[in-house]
Amino acid sequence: MMTDQLGFDTRAVHAGTPADPATGARQVPIYQTTAYVFRDAEHAANLFALKEVGFIYSRLTNPTVGALQARIADLEGGAGAVCCSSGHAAQILALFPLMGPGLNIVASNRLYGGTITQFSQSIKRFGWGCKFVDLDDPEAVKAAIDDDTRAIFCESISNPAGYPTDIPAIAAIADAAGIPLIVDNTLATPYLCRPIEMGATLVVHSLTKYMTGNGTVTGGVVVDSGRFDWSASDKFPSLSAPEPAYHGLQFHKALGPMAFTFHGIAIGLRDLGMTMNPQGAHYTLMGIETLALRMPRHVENAQKVAEWLEADPRVTSVSHSGLASSPWHDRAKRLYPKGVGGLFTFSLKGGYDAAVKLVGNLKLFSHVANLGDARSLVIHSASTTHSQLSDEQKIASGAGPDVVRLSIGVEDADDLIADLDQALSAAS
Ligand SMILES: *Cc1c(COP(=O)(O)O)cnc(C)c1O
Repeated sequence: MMTDQLGFDTRAVHAGTPADPATGARQVPIYQTTAYVFRDAEHAANLFALKEVGFIYSRLTNPTVGALQARIADLEGGAGAVCCSSGHAAQILALFPLMGPGLNIVASNRLYGGTITQFSQSIKRFGWGCKFVDLDDPEAVKAAIDDDTRAIFCESISNPAGYPTDIPAIAAIADAAGIPLIVDNTLATPYLCRPIEMGATLVVHSLTKYMTGNGTVTGGVVVDSGRFDWSASDKFPSLSAPEPAYHGLQFHKALGPMAFTFHGIAIGLRDLGMTMNPQGAHYTLMGIETLALRMPRHVENAQKVAEWLEADPRVTSVSHSGLASSPWHDRAKRLYPKGVGGLFTFSLKGGYDAAVKLVGNLKLFSHVANLGDARSLVIHSASTTHSQLSDEQKIASGAGPDVVRLSIGVEDADDLIADLDQALSAAS
């Protein structure tokens, strides 16, 4: 379906999902199959040679997953998208075509704790490096980029403290260096932010969070803008030069704006195997149908709760860029006019002990390592999601010892405030 002229809310329901061509089924069927019957030997050969696009084996492509890919590519304004098993898988899938031993990325120091660990520790085993910088210091970002840098990585709105990244400013630095900007758009979703429109090359998501919206699945996606010229330098040979892992195919020459997407399937999913299952894709498609209804409610509730907490004497500070007191309030209003989402942090007068007690006394909030659920969630980042980090990294990423992270759901804001009120009393 051509959906360019339709509004976002309509596309969230319709994009990528015409009635099923085989049965007319209105909801996207869960194609629970491993393989697909070839018409004949020539058909099989053409599919393997990428001369014809079709289904071969569900590690690579599946119609249910394909419908989700088409919907997300549409909502993000990308040329194509590749779904995978989790948000963390999406980050590796996005970097894989760009990287090699000895090469590095430059990443924001305000990232989800798991991503800081993935980038500072685990990718070293591939021979990849990462330099963390403060994105509010453009000179430091430029200085960190060297001849071996292959991407800049940031989150649009960062986990856990809701820092709103100046994507156009960082995209300009990436463009000048001839490298792609990769934006993790998990917390904002394309409802609040479309990084490609702000100059990003690639967008990654943890679909586990707001996109699915109810804490049922893990999933990830890599969206490509289709705009980056992979052949402009010799920095990206897997895309621009004959690729030995795919019988010498030159992906960029052969596939143009779809080069990165096909590479992600034909080499990424084929060889790394981090495939999304069709059942998971179904849940995420259902979740995205209500994305445009849920996100404004998350934003509105989070704003109410944050304002209430900020006025409470038991609270030291609230980090939420929707508050006038935030150093990033003006940027948030300028770049994220529909709001900064439902996740924020606050710190308690009673420090670490009070933070732990508060979490233990909340009744409506679930104490879990997740976010972006319809239910409100709470976690003490320093002792959980960010526990692998050094003290400096914890504080830099907004997860100090006295800090509690809230993921505000779509319940009645007054009930959430009453629950926080009683738990704060118990903790003080
Ligand atoms: C949760 C999260 C991830 C990792 O996603 P998984 O689906 O848990 O692998 C990456 N980035 C951000 C911002 C997240 O919140």
